[in-house]
Amino acid sequence: MENRLRLAPSPTGLLHIGTARTALFNWLYAKKTNGKFLLRIEDTDTNRSKSEFTENILNGLNWLGLTWDDDLIRQSTRIEIHKSVINKLLDQGFAYRCFTSEEEIKELREEQKLNGLPPKHDNRHRSLTKEEIDKFIAEGRSSVIRFKINDDQEITWEDQIRGEIKWRGKDLGGDMVLSRRSFGYDIGSPLYNLAVVVDDNFMEITHVVRGEDHISNTAKQILIYKALNYKLPIFSHTPLILNSEGKKLSKRDSVTSIDDFKKMGYLPKAMANYMALLGWSVKPDDNEIQNLDEIAKNFELTDVNKAGAKFNWEKLNWINSQHIKKMQVNDLYEIFKKYWQEKAWKPHTNKWGLELTNLLQDSITVLNDIVDQSAPFFVMPNIDNDGEVFLEENSKLSLEKIYELLNQEDIHVNTTVAKNLIDKVSLENSLKKGIVMRSLRVAFFGCLSGPDLVKSWELFSANKDDIKRIQRCLDTN
Ligand code: GLU
Repeated sequence: MENRLRLAPSPTGLLHIGTARTALFNWLYAKKTNGKFLLRIEDTDTNRSKSEFTENILNGLNWLGLTWDDDLIRQSTRIEIHKSVINKLLDQGFAYRCFTSEEEIKELREEQKLNGLPPKHDNRHRSLTKEEIDKFIAEGRSSVIRFKINDDQEITWEDQIRGEIKWRGKDLGGDMVLSRRSFGYDIGSPLYNLAVVVDDNFMEITHVVRGEDHISNTAKQILIYKALNYKLPIFSHTPLILNSEGKKLSKRDSVTSIDDFKKMGYLPKAMANYMALLGWSVKPDDNEIQNLDEIAKNFELTDVNKAGAKFNWEKLNWINSQHIKKMQVNDLYEIFKKYWQEKAWKPHTNKWGLELTNLLQDSITVLNDIVDQSAPFFVMPNIDNDGEVFLEENSKLSLEKIYELLNQEDIHVNTTVAKNLIDKVSLENSLKKGIVMRSLRVAFFGCLSGPDLVKSWELFSANKDDIKRIQRCLDTN
């Protein structure tokens, strides 16, 4: 039988890294086992669901390369089916109509709080007679449908990540609400735990992989599966992603949506690679830098850790830079060009643009570094403090001599010529080579750091920018 996995996001916000990582683990396992990865948008909460969030989730998954099989399913198209299942549960005595008002629930909560008890419904309407129900309805009271949960049962399942999980019926908060409030004999809109079971069964989901915050929902859902005589899927609960303080990564951590990472210049490949390592790890001798297909080959749900996974920026940055290094320079050049276009910077020639891309390929961590690091090649940079301090007698002399040589002969400086010029000026004027090189660095970049000097010089020389920049230093005192 084919494995069928799914992501079931609620479109109530931008695609969050936690949801994306859940999608990734589902996708990897489906891929690894030649199964299917399906997508269901859980959009029945009409107050909070928004089509722009659905769009954002779909775009984010596509961007990460987590494409899904078959048509996506919108849960909102299945509401009538969910209601018919609720009716069946009512008919079979697994569920009942409960008229406890909001006010009464509040009172119950307060009483429980006073006694130091956790919130739990007291199932007061579990055994109403037909007459009592009719009477409540005639009085105009609203009702929800509750599913009976017996306190004295134990719900057990073998979780692929956590091993055996046991949950006591009495810790599930009393009889579970299946639908929102309604009046008369109507059934209000079905709620998550009911809809998810009905839809996972309909989609023939074999493996449910989701965050550990759903563990108690799983216990409740197993009861619904059993009542409906549905085949149980295999459950896996992934660890939470934690911030540096060890708390659940939340909106307060400022960067949490996949869009944020995209905007900061992380490559989708690197994001997916990093997210896989949030809870799963490669074999000790394997390279951590892998693409999705490589990860899928080795991925096992049973190898996922139970403990929360700490989000580590340094590691993400390292992974991103490694993926940038691995890119074909032509592909990277296309990305560079987009960043340059936004700044209205034009490469002198395509060859020049490619060479500049090649030069910077190893030094950019995130794509957004492209702007800062390319800037000196397009606009004359200011000279920073360290640069100014450095420009004293010997460095000025270095630059003067180079300037003379460059003007004497109309030469194109390639890397060999550049090296020769540096050697010549240092020898003939008894200047340390380091001084000559650093002087050129200040002239070209306005500071004492930057990419490979001789390669850069070749690029500056293409437009005689080398001469202009040296001249600028000689003109400043
Ligand atoms: N809509 C639920 C959520 O976004 C789905 C959880 C599940 O995978 O069952 O949390």
